[in-house]
Amino acid sequence: MLDGTGSAIPLMAETPPARTTLIERDQGLLWHPYAPLDGDAPYAVHGAQGTRLSLSAADGTRFEAVDAMSSWWSAIHGYRNPTLDAALAEQAGRFSHVMFGGLTHEPAVRLAEQLVSLTGLDHVFFADSGSVSVEVALKLAVQYQLGCGRPGRNRFLALRGGYHGDTFAAMGVCDPVDGMHAAFPANIAKQLFLPRPPAARLTAGTLTACPDEVAAWIDALEATVHAHSAELAAIIVEPVLQGAGGMHVYAPACLAAARRVADEHGLLLIVDEIATGFGRTGKLFASQWAQVVPDIMCVGKALTGGYLTLAAMLCSGHVAKVVTNSPLRALLHGPTFMANPLACAVASASLDLLATSGWQHRVAGIEQGLAAGLAPARALNSVRDVRVLGAVGVVELAGPVDVPAVTAAALECGVWIRPFRNLIYTMPPFVSSAGDVAAIGAGICTAVARVHG
Ligand SMILES: *Cc1c(COP(=O)(O)O)cnc(C)c1O
Repeated sequence: MLDGTGSAIPLMAETPPARTTLIERDQGLLWHPYAPLDGDAPYAVHGAQGTRLSLSAADGTRFEAVDAMSSWWSAIHGYRNPTLDAALAEQAGRFSHVMFGGLTHEPAVRLAEQLVSLTGLDHVFFADSGSVSVEVALKLAVQYQLGCGRPGRNRFLALRGGYHGDTFAAMGVCDPVDGMHAAFPANIAKQLFLPRPPAARLTAGTLTACPDEVAAWIDALEATVHAHSAELAAIIVEPVLQGAGGMHVYAPACLAAARRVADEHGLLLIVDEIATGFGRTGKLFASQWAQVVPDIMCVGKALTGGYLTLAAMLCSGHVAKVVTNSPLRALLHGPTFMANPLACAVASASLDLLATSGWQHRVAGIEQGLAAGLAPARALNSVRDVRVLGAVGVVELAGPVDVPAVTAAALECGVWIRPFRNLIYTMPPFVSSAGDVAAIGAGICTAVARVHG
């Protein structure tokens, strides 16, 4: 190396800063969801058991926390569940993966039989994540319209405030503002959107909304579909609860209207039950709040009890028949890890466990516990709304959440949460005890009061 005078400078032994802790090794190396590479330090997980996470912060502080997030709606039976552990180990002892092209296996067939029996739909396509199952659902809807001789019907009607995943076609049906469409104008197809359906409130076990608002929304739905039916393949919605797009609970009558209007105009109805499926809202599937049977359904998240990544797209016999009888015949998709046997085996065991776990009773108990535990937040100045549906509790602030501060304050109360935008929310594992749920309610109220007042 030369300095300005041209003379050689001996190379200094430049030791890079020692990266010793897990968090230090992570920082700048790994991307985390929706976060910059040099974003806030994550917490390190040392163990997870039942409803508890063992964590440490960047400064080395250790926390034993009740998990209020079910690892993003998925770990409904808790961590290290003995039944799921055993199912996984048993399948690993047979075979872990084989291609699904030209081959089949017991875990896939069994899980498909279970899903068909639970949903009332007829056919199953396994995908490796929720987003991919949405891609497949959208593709199937277009292929269906092609099979009906309507090639011009290739757009989708979606809801503002919706969330359906992060791949491009899925993003296209996410809320156009919060769904980051502006960042990818050349990559995202322009779809049609209806306003968020009017909010509904749970009172005495039913969801009620303002009748005038519901009627106005249904008018808008009818007018939009009437004007655009020649170009629309399907309506896609999250049934009754919009999750990542704002934790918004809406009137089941709007979902029922979407079913009716889709039928009247030859559109398919796709319900995205990836977050809401398997009991989370108090019904096995949230579509049941409106007694709606969709043409196409996507499930994911809790499907494997949070053990492995797996999603499924299901459809009716009619939709499948049209595609099978069309010139293309096949559904044009086929992931490498389609119907992964480990994931299918653990999903099968998770559904068996759900069936025998008395989930209705557990979810009802969590609903009561969250309603009571989060109620004190209503009195806080920073809080705009508190709402509960099934095993989902939401505290909506008037302004954005200070995420690192609220997360840290909740951890000091022994609760793991991950707020976003102006929302602090929880969807505890179904195996949470009354004490766990009370701790979550108290932790959230204390954290909000401490940070936001
Ligand atoms: C999480 C989610 C998805 C995307 O699933 P991934 O497995 O993250 O790809 C799609 N739709 C809804 C409603 C979701 O909550």
